[in-house]
Amino acid sequence: MSVSAGARILVVEDEPVINQAVTDRLRGHGYEVVQAWDGPGAVSQFTETAPDLVLLDVMLPGFDGHEVCRRIQAARPVPVLMLTARDDEADILVGLGVGADDYLTKPFRMRELVARVGALLRRVDRAAELATRSTTTDLGDLRIDAASRRVWVAESEVHLTPTEFDLLLCLAASPGVVLTRENLYAEVWGWPGASGTRTVDSHVKALRSKTGADRVRTVHGVGYALEPSA
Ligand code: CA
Repeated sequence: MSVSAGARILVVEDEPVINQAVTDRLRGHGYEVVQAWDGPGAVSQFTETAPDLVLLDVMLPGFDGHEVCRRIQAARPVPVLMLTARDDEADILVGLGVGADDYLTKPFRMRELVARVGALLRRVDRAAELATRSTTTDLGDLRIDAASRRVWVAESEVHLTPTEFDLLLCLAASPGVVLTRENLYAEVWGWPGASGTRTVDSHVKALRSKTGADRVRTVHGVGYALEPSA
């Protein structure tokens, strides 16, 4: 069965009205929803209920959403969609840096929230489907095994987050070819739109730090390309 159908979602938001509105809407779309209203509550709900996806507000009582993200990603990587204050660049970058897959700025439209949740869950489904095929890609000193979702650089294993892995796989599908950030965002995050550029940039930065600074080439004003033999 696909993850998307009847997925369990943890909604973490300290404003009761927003938390309940999001919860009601997601339940209306057939998702199972569990709720938390502060940092410690989010971590314990995560452990107890094993959700498939987490919607995570940044400013929370106890400890903040970034700390929640660090702790849950260390326990078991799942898609995390951060809910951030409008245009708070620092919040967005910190969130992406601690393992959030993407972000949505407040105030958001419910329709967009539901669509983004669906896109993230479909990505998990696609990854599961890919894992059933056995495909290994060798590009210079880089080796990617799509089935086991493992990556090696110069025969040392590199540990990537699920999103970093999907991004690398997408770039490796056409080595040397420049892909725009919009295309990468649409392909990897399953969601069209220019809002994804910071998300893509942040994940490329993480990929470079883990696989080598020259691995992914920036083509200014255009996008990114994987170097076939970095
Ligand atoms: Ca809040």
